[in-house]
Amino acid sequence: MRIAVFGGTFDPIHRGHMLIARHVARQLKLDRILFVTAARPPHKAAIQLTHPCDRHAMVALALRNERRFVASNLELLSPLEKNYSIDTLARVRTQLRPSDELFFILGADQFAEFRTWRNSDRLLESVALVVVSRPGLAIEELVARCDQRTQRAVKRLPGIAGKRTRLARRFSAVPPVIYLVPDLKIDISSTSIRDRISAGRRVRGVLDPAVADYIRKNRLYRKRT
Ligand code: ATP
Ligand code: MG
Repeated sequence: MRIAVFGGTFDPIHRGHMLIARHVARQLKLDRILFVTAARPPHKAAIQLTHPCDRHAMVALALRNERRFVASNLELLSPLEKNYSIDTLARVRTQLRPSDELFFILGADQFAEFRTWRNSDRLLESVALVVVSRPGLAIEELVARCDQRTQRAVKRLPGIAGKRTRLARRFSAVPPVIYLVPDLKIDISSTSIRDRISAGRRVRGVLDPAVADYIRKNRLYRKRT
């Protein structure tokens, strides 16, 4: 099977996450994507996050009708204080068969900081990365700033509009490889959703209705009074 890990704080999960997952699943012919809700990501240590159980519950709701997508609570079960991707991927691997192929999906904002991650060299050598473009971040500039070793691993996926996507091409998961997904420009972030809700403004079209309902019922992201 071709499997990808898509990690995030998902605070909350939004339509952008879903569009990315569907697009990458199609382009890379993935059988499964594990949405791994981060318990306590190192780069967000100082940020107040919604309780992991609520974030995971929202992921599960958003994925309820998606056959290939799985809400994973792998990190939430771990007793670690901080969760590093290298450890999470190692734990995922223990549940796979030797013939399974593993990818790791991340947005351009995360890729920009990739080299500051724990054991980034080892990570690059151990899993195929899939980097999704994000508005405001020129993916080619990010690549140009990378070291030689990282640059050598870069491969560009054909665009969604390109005819070549119709060909049943298989992209190998043998690392080191970094697939760039250049033509997704989705202007949605959890931060802007939280800000809108806390300002009492409506959030339209960017949340799954069941997730929007969960947020309302549990009074998430409201300003504390
Ligand atoms: P926050 O604003 O709280 O950081 P977010 O919208 O960035 O939320 P995360 O849960 O942090 O969502 O993201 C999980 C993964 O999805 C990260 O790798 C992130 O880069 C990627 N991602 C999220 N939204 C987008 C988007 N609109 N375009 C591209 N990548 C995205
Ligand atoms: Mg983010």
